[in-house]
Amino acid sequence: MCNKKYYDSVLKCPICGNDFFNVGRGRVKEYCSIDCKNINSFLNSIESKLIGISFKTESDKKALKSRIWSMSNLITFKISKDKK
Ligand SMILES: [Zn+2]
Repeated sequence: MCNKKYYDSVLKCPICGNDFFNVGRGRVKEYCSIDCKNINSFLNSIESKLIGISFKTESDKKALKSRIWSMSNLITFKISKDKK
């Protein structure tokens, strides 16, 4: 019989792909960090809002796509100090 409990299991974060342990009891963690949890919340929010938009012109649609593309350039890679 396996002695491994659900809170000892290794999970994979659906946002960053990192493996993490589900430490503690209670609800099983879905994300490796609060940052990944917040990213998922942001993505769900923006996706549901984008689905509800109906553009009156192709130009309006292109303007929003351009703005979202520009915003993607704000995403940067940062090495955390505690992971050196
Ligand atoms: Zn993650």
